Amino acid sequence: MTATPDLEADILVLGAGPGGYTAAFRAADLGKKVVLVERAPVLGGVCLNVGCIPSKALLHAAKVLEEAHEMSAAGLGFTRPPIDLDKLRGWKGGIVSKLTSGLAALAKQRKVTVATGIGRFVSPHEIEVAHDGTTKRIAFAHAIVAAGSEPAQLPFVPHDDSRVLDSTGALDLQDVPQRLLVIGGGIIGLEMATVYHALGSRVTVVELMDQIIPGADRDIVAPLMKRIAARYEAIHLQTKVTKVEPGTEGLTVTFDGKDAPSSTTFDKILVAVGRVPNGRTLNLEAAGVSVDARGFVPVDGRMRTNVPHIFAIGDIVGQPMLAHKAVHEGKVAAEAAAGLNAAFDARVIPSVAYTDPEVAWVGLTENEAKAAGVAYGKGSFPWAASGRALSFGRDEGLTKVLFDPETHRTLGCGIVGPNAGDLIAEVALAIEMGADAADIAGTIHPHPTLSETIAQSAEMFEGTITDLMPPRKARGV
Ligand code: NAD
Repeated sequence: MTATPDLEADILVLGAGPGGYTAAFRAADLGKKVVLVERAPVLGGVCLNVGCIPSKALLHAAKVLEEAHEMSAAGLGFTRPPIDLDKLRGWKGGIVSKLTSGLAALAKQRKVTVATGIGRFVSPHEIEVAHDGTTKRIAFAHAIVAAGSEPAQLPFVPHDDSRVLDSTGALDLQDVPQRLLVIGGGIIGLEMATVYHALGSRVTVVELMDQIIPGADRDIVAPLMKRIAARYEAIHLQTKVTKVEPGTEGLTVTFDGKDAPSSTTFDKILVAVGRVPNGRTLNLEAAGVSVDARGFVPVDGRMRTNVPHIFAIGDIVGQPMLAHKAVHEGKVAAEAAAGLNAAFDARVIPSVAYTDPEVAWVGLTENEAKAAGVAYGKGSFPWAASGRALSFGRDEGLTKVLFDPETHRTLGCGIVGPNAGDLIAEVALAIEMGADAADIAGTIHPHPTLSETIAQSAEMFEGTITDLMPPRKARGV
């Protein structure tokens, strides 16, 4: 006979990141009795506490520093401001706590019970939550696993050395190292490089592949590459780190690769080589839930695991590991668990690197189209012809939209330039709505805005553009 549980839930949600709290709140709104289990003392998960939000706060600070500096060319000379790291850290923390306390209030309003502690499955209908030496048993009819991911580590990098940081450590902003090495030229690496460079670090980036942000097209990444190559100490592509030796003068790093430097010493190293799912840490086998060799939990289109009353969402079910994907999946799982006919049927998931300039892409990329032999046409609009981009001195941007050559339907888009991350949402909607190039071109975009570059790209494809010369082929001449 099993002991009586301490709590009972119609729907138990494990993990209170954006995916988990969304699932919990949606389930509560559907009239379900919900228990939300979270190991951290606050809600919000990695994204709110040590990810998306604090990084965006620091990126804003970096932007203010950079823009003030660049305005000297326009006759506004600012002296470099003193940087009070404690105050900056406090300001960032204030933004985070505003959001996490808002979430706690929303949970309370919805009567979602929050159980703080580390959860592990003990049977297909029960979980144990350990906290401060005590253990609670929670029984559930349905569960939604939203336990996220952890930063990946490199075996040859000493992780017990306080000078080696992961994204959480980098966001903690203990100091501004003079010489910072960023291992991994992906989104986290380059966002944190943007912050530390603006604060005064000499930044070196080492990337395994032949371009930074390998998921995006090369022409979309090129303006970012050009800007940071001129500002950072070095960017080594097709290069890996083979050894890190801690010493009193710093961490001496040995590289191997195409244009690898000889061993170099750094004050700090940020390891940003991806994230690994937490699927192997939850004792899911006790519930009969399958976990693959990499720690991902396979799910169907309704976010159901192989055990029909247990769902999984977010980083733990696969790439891309993005908060907005998790949120969408969280709603689907909550609705499906509550008996509604819900399924994940989004066509595309946008990606954004909040670097300077920002890099954003959605749907089909040219790299993917070429690799898969998919026919496409494209319209591109260089921001050098955008009055708005010129007005703030950033003409290096590019908007590129891919269309089906037969139907002219929108297939994908890449944008590089300030605010690319906000602009990409329009093309995500165009793809979801089945909009074609004429729909986008025929939609009146406000002038002067960067959003016009999307309509102008569609006009380039259609051959109807007047702001530039249309391509001869598109004009039919
Ligand atoms: P990532 O996959 O974006 O980038 C990792 C990079 O490291 C890749 O370019 C990869 O080629 C490189 N790499 C891997 N092993 C290496 C090695 N040994 N040496 C040198 N380079 C190596 O991963 P990330 O930047 O760590 O981010 C983790 C996850 O978090 C991603 O899924 C990312 O999308 C997500 N994230 C998203 C945002 C955002 O939406 N703005 C921000 C931060 C993180």
